[in-house]
Amino acid sequence: MMCNSTIKIFLLLTLYCLQSKAQTPPDILNTIFPSGDKLEGGNFEGTVWVNPLLPADSAFNASMGNVIFEPKARSKWHKHPGGQTLIGLDGKGYYQEKGKPLQILRKGDVVRCPPDVEHWHGASHDHWFVQLAITPEHPDGRVIWLHEVAAEEYEMGRAKSLEEQAHLSLNALEPRHRHIVAISSLAAKGDLGRLGMALHDGLDAGLTINELKEVLVHLHAYCGFPRSIQGLNTLIAVLETRKAQGITDEMGRTASPVTDTSSKYERGKKVLESLTGQPQITPPRSGYGAFSPEIDTFLKEHLFAGLFERDVLSFEDREITTISALVNLGGVTPMLKGHMRIARHLGFTEAQLMHLLAIVESTTGVKEAEDGRKALSEVMEPVKK
Ligand code: MN
Repeated sequence: MMCNSTIKIFLLLTLYCLQSKAQTPPDILNTIFPSGDKLEGGNFEGTVWVNPLLPADSAFNASMGNVIFEPKARSKWHKHPGGQTLIGLDGKGYYQEKGKPLQILRKGDVVRCPPDVEHWHGASHDHWFVQLAITPEHPDGRVIWLHEVAAEEYEMGRAKSLEEQAHLSLNALEPRHRHIVAISSLAAKGDLGRLGMALHDGLDAGLTINELKEVLVHLHAYCGFPRSIQGLNTLIAVLETRKAQGITDEMGRTASPVTDTSSKYERGKKVLESLTGQPQITPPRSGYGAFSPEIDTFLKEHLFAGLFERDVLSFEDREITTISALVNLGGVTPMLKGHMRIARHLGFTEAQLMHLLAIVESTTGVKEAEDGRKALSEVMEPVKK
């Protein structure tokens, strides 16, 4: 009996401690400003603390407040008629503007949200977030609240964190390949609005016009002429916009002439052998190539000679383009695994391919990335004897 009541008291104490812990942000936050008043419900999901540090006055037409979000707490979608500046003070937060990728915010990050742009902000899944918000007064109000952040919108934060982790690893994909993954994924999905943004980012990062053109041309072999041509049309529009903005993009070099005088079929066979590291038996004696010699010819002549021989892109660039497209296409596991094996043969590490899949997850989808991870784990399995 004694024992039971001791346990009861202990449990009550633990409960009390847990509850009181939930009342105020933990001391480890070491915040600059006192936490202020606790807010629950209404325009926020989870618990936040708001400390109105400075009201607007006639000289300074903006108020400034300190906001603390517990992990997973976030605002609803909203907009500020006069815009808003956010400054990350501690922890790890999420910020997203309508139609744009989610961003991770940390201490020292400054975000300027333009007037009337729909957005939300809050803490990450795994950390508290402390922000300073500077919000101008406006005749239409300081803030107009909209709808809640959907679970799948908030979940993108987890994908973005995973991608960020992979970026920081020693085994990360090089920046040019990160851009190719996003561009190839969005072109394969036909998400032209976001493809446009990804092409802008690629050009800003120094990929040439001819390289981006070649990525989109390469895609026709994997997701068809329609997706490829839609991608090229998007690139044309992006280049026109940038020209109008006074940005001069580098055209880059074109493909070198082919000097090998052997037949196109033989050249395609050689390319395939160097990609896979496996001798190719021609003509094929079994499988689809024996059943349909015409597709074997198209593959060797058109894809592996005609396309892969164009040295505007390296074999590595082409495989990153291909794997990203196949993951997003779905339902082509044998081909996906085949190209993952080629990538391994070209020297990509498992961690780099995991990085590719993390970018896919934060760019186009969780399911695509999970299917890709399953395929990669099968490719990495030691060969059973
Ligand atoms: Mn805001």
